[in-house]
Parts: sequence; C-alpha cells; structure tokens
Amino acid sequence: MKVGVNYGHTLNGPGSGAVGILNESAETRNVGNAFVDLLIKNGHEVVNCTIDKASSQNVYLSQVVEMANRQDLDYFISFHFNVYNGKAFGTEVYTYEGRQFEDALEVCANISALGFANRGVKNGTGLYVVKKTKAKSMLIECCFVDNAEDVETYRRVGPVAIAEAVYKAITNTNVETVQPQPAPAPTPTPKPSGDDWVRCLQIELNNQLGKDLVVDGIKGPKTLNACPTVKKGAKGGITKLIQERLVSVGFNLTLDGIFGTKTKNAVKVFQKNRGLTEDGIVGPKTWEWLLKGTKM
Ligand SMILES: [Zn+2]
Repeated sequence: MKVGVNYGHTLNGPGSGAVGILNESAETRNVGNAFVDLLIKNGHEVVNCTIDKASSQNVYLSQVVEMANRQDLDYFISFHFNVYNGKAFGTEVYTYEGRQFEDALEVCANISALGFANRGVKNGTGLYVVKKTKAKSMLIECCFVDNAEDVETYRRVGPVAIAEAVYKAITNTNVETVQPQPAPAPTPTPKPSGDDWVRCLQIELNNQLGKDLVVDGIKGPKTLNACPTVKKGAKGGITKLIQERLVSVGFNLTLDGIFGTKTKNAVKVFQKNRGLTEDGIVGPKTWEWLLKGTKM
C-alpha cells in the first residue's frame, strides 16, 4: 500500500497548528512519525507530505496537496489535533462528503477505544486537503489539545498508540473489533467560567515555561506561582498579556509584546496606585494585582 502522510500544519509561523495545553504541530509530528514507522516496518510505501515552514497558510495547503497528488496514493492521511473552548473533547475523522467508509469508522472506533469519546466521521469537503487530494483521504482530529481530560488521556496512551489505532484501521490487521459508538450529544457550551485573560496566560505559561496548569481561567495560587518575574528587555506572549491587562485597567500601551520604557513606566504607575514598590518589575505582588485585573 502507498500512503501519503501529512503531519498537520507547519511547525511555526503561517500555517502552524492550534495551541492549547499541548501544541498541535508538535503532536501531529509525534503521531505522524510513529505512524510512518509502522507503515515502513510493515513494508508499505510512504510519501511524506509534511511541510515545516511556509510563507502563508494557502501556500502550505497547496504544497501539501501537490506533494500528495504527484503520486498515485492508496490513501492520504492528515493528522491533526482539535482545539475549541477547553470543554469539547474526543476524536473525529473528516472524509470527503462525510463518507462513512469503514476504515474511517474504524479509525474513530480504534482511537476512542484508547479512552477518547467517539465524535464520528464528519463532512470534510470544506477542508482543502480532503477536498483536493485525489487519493481516498482522511483528516484525523486525534483529540482536543485544549481539553484537560483529553490531554491527560493522550499523555497516558502516547502517540504510538494512536498511530497503531490508525494503522490497524487502514490495513485491516487483526484487532479486536470495537463497535463504533454513536457520537455523543453535542456538548453544551456554557459560557466558560473564569477570566479569559487568565486562560490565555495559563496557556502561555504552559507552552513557554512548561507549566502544567489547568486552563480554567481561575486566578488561583497555582497560576500565580507559575508567573515568572518580567522586566524591561523581556519580549513575547507573556509581556503582551501584561500589556493587555494594563490596557484593560486604563493604560494606553501598544500591544507589541516588548517590555520597553513605556511598559515599564505603566507598570510603575500601576504599582504606585496599588501601594506596591514602584520598581517597574512584574514580580509576584504585581502579578497578584494583574490577576485581579481590577481598575482603581
Ligand atoms: Zn489542525
């Protein structure tokens, strides 16, 4: 069998994947590599249709399709991880026109047998790589990288188990057959509790500093303790969040993620108004007030 495999998304920049508790681009590569290993070990031919860097999302997509269509493939498989609102969970597979072909149903069933909810086979005609590839195609959303339980399950079973689940489905190797479960009723999406800014901060702390915070938007001690000291010269997502918070309490700052003099001066005024030492350095006490997010 000749299989086109796409590790979903570029690594970073245009076309990169979703970021939740885990990073989609990193995990599509972990699962994809394991899947390719299995195929090769078992004598199948692999055409790797993965692109790590592209100038835009459209360039990324068209290059993937071009790589796939240059060959006569039996299958085109694109690995992805979902992200929604932190509450949604489970596995789903997208096929052209939502065709419920057996292999796709089996992919869902096999992955869900590892402990994920089975969301079923869905219409992927709107997805470029599903629509444009000539081979029988499947885009697999393994689970949700922003859902704490899915991430826990994923960390427990590991990428190799997911790769095996897919491999078994498409090669019809002997596996205990799992009855496809009906897709669960759509998860009601109550307005998430907590503070969206805090949620963004938790994601940033997890991704950048390897923290393991639950992304719940709740301003608890765990989140506070995870916050690093940030001062002039800093750059990036955490600085940008500090700027956003300062703006939300009335400061006038450009959200450029650069901790320069203007940001430092704003922090000083913020500290002064709250009876803190005016050093312009965002340490634990200042973070405490930033987490509160209250105006004076
Ligand atoms: Zn994706």
